[in-house]
Amino acid sequence: MHTVLAGGVGAARYLSGALEAFDPSTVTAVVNVGDDVVLHGLHISPDLDTCTYTLAGAIDPERGWGLVDESWQAMAELGRYGGDNWFGLGDRDLGTHLFRTARLHAGASLTSITAEITATWGLACRLLPVTNQRVETRVTLADGSEIGFQEYFVRLAHSVEITGVRFAGAATAMVSREALAAIDDADALVIAPSNPIVSIAPLLAIPGVTGAVTARRDRNVAVSPIIGGAALKGPADRMLRELGEESSVVGIARRYRDLAATLVIDEVDADLAPAVEQAGMRAVVMPTIMSRPGVASALATACAEACL
Ligand code: GDP
Ligand code: CA
Repeated sequence: MHTVLAGGVGAARYLSGALEAFDPSTVTAVVNVGDDVVLHGLHISPDLDTCTYTLAGAIDPERGWGLVDESWQAMAELGRYGGDNWFGLGDRDLGTHLFRTARLHAGASLTSITAEITATWGLACRLLPVTNQRVETRVTLADGSEIGFQEYFVRLAHSVEITGVRFAGAATAMVSREALAAIDDADALVIAPSNPIVSIAPLLAIPGVTGAVTARRDRNVAVSPIIGGAALKGPADRMLRELGEESSVVGIARRYRDLAATLVIDEVDADLAPAVEQAGMRAVVMPTIMSRPGVASALATACAEACL
């Protein structure tokens, strides 16, 4: 089994490569739910949906989130009433949130609802929310106020300085049985190139997850989400600096060295390979920008080999 600790976009791209490289039924993602938010009474799971829509070939290629061929009539009507419409929910996408919310109200777990959604989209791999309970990533701003992750990320377009991040509910949440087994039983465990602070850290904050990951460190590999000192998209580089870490593959190695033996870094960072090793991780240098064809599947193959 090839198990991936996953956030949104970076993880989804990696997973598409893994599906090309391996028998899809052996690929499992343990997915962050710290980004989840309830809006208009609807339970929205952005990282699960980004993975699902990407692997189904249905993600909007320009926006990079949400469904292709989307329309926005419900949002326009909401705006007409003066409702809160800063978080874009397309008409097609709304169907997913309506279904998820109704099933949650009927007592189904997020794990089984996600299996229903991914089966409907024809995915042959498994997407497992790390927990069935609510975990909420909260961000502290420079003025001392605290806001929800989506308010920071979407409403404020992550344009404000942060001084801290916490995962409300994580300490009392339980890792799902399926997610823990996927970590324990994996031949290779991959920390996807996702935002380390708000996609990977909330997974690790759930009791039992960090222990399960560190216990098998030598068969774990991480792919750096930082390339040439910067994130490809999003605030990961700025967040690292604002929290006092280095936005480089060396900073990533310092963060991940107890979790994985190997760090895959991009060719542009080849000169930093010795510093990564100095920081305590074996460095593998290869192309990691997955918008280029073939890169994601080669990356998945190299990650599996690194865990042998
Ligand atoms: P989100 O939840 O949709 O914000 O996405 P993620 O949690 O997956 O994090 C975004 C991170 O993924 C950024 O730091 C990007 O640099 C990284 N990322 C996205 N695509 C790629 C890629 O093709 N290669 C690598 N190495 N990193 C990527
Ligand atoms: Ca996310």
